[in-house]
Amino acid sequence: MKVDILCFGAHPDDVELGCSGTIFKHISIGKKVAIVDLTLGELGSRGNVETRKAEAKKATEIMNVSYRENLGLPDGFLHYDKDYLLQIVTAIRKYQPEIILCNAPQDRHPDHGKAAQLVVESVFLSGLVNIKTTFEGKQQLNWRVKNTFHYIQDYYLKPDLVVDITGFEEQKMTAILAYTSQFYSGNDEKTKSVTTPISSPEFLTFLKARMSEMGRIIHVPFGEGFIAARQPGVNDLTSLV
Ligand SMILES: [Zn+2]
Repeated sequence: MKVDILCFGAHPDDVELGCSGTIFKHISIGKKVAIVDLTLGELGSRGNVETRKAEAKKATEIMNVSYRENLGLPDGFLHYDKDYLLQIVTAIRKYQPEIILCNAPQDRHPDHGKAAQLVVESVFLSGLVNIKTTFEGKQQLNWRVKNTFHYIQDYYLKPDLVVDITGFEEQKMTAILAYTSQFYSGNDEKTKSVTTPISSPEFLTFLKARMSEMGRIIHVPFGEGFIAARQPGVNDLTSLV
């Protein structure tokens, strides 16, 4: 089940919103990607667990990621917990990624920063041979990832690096709009849905503006910004865009 990139999200639409352009781009060059959602988003004001599961499945098919699973941790109540850490370590060792992408270190939704901390600490623990985990009855090997990057979510945070996602911006919006219960589709009056900070048409405009804003930093039309858990290294300076 080895993949190149493993993406974690606190809620089932976080990965699509934060880094699906990067996912589309890497899959287009033959890389394998998996997603692990920490919670089912059961506290969401719109939709319910079943609709969000169906929406996540649809988005997964659109992105063509190799694997997606949900750890079923409690939405709204993520905290530093040994059992949560070990569940995340198990997922990291199962997918053996080179790179991990995870939530923003601080954000409007408090789960995002907590999820980010849990993943970063699990990445460290995953490398330790004396942390014992099992998968399907077998003891797992320790696994060290090359680096962990936080995608940027609601709050503007200054990125350490930007991925050029030009050409994948429309596919990103298609993956996001698979979550029909969460975002604007023009049906709110008919469905009597509660208005949330992400359900307005302006939120979709904001998402496109954020892609443009990040792209502008590296002089391309569209980008996604990331914060590095530790300084990234490159083999060759001339391969930078
Ligand atoms: Zn979220």
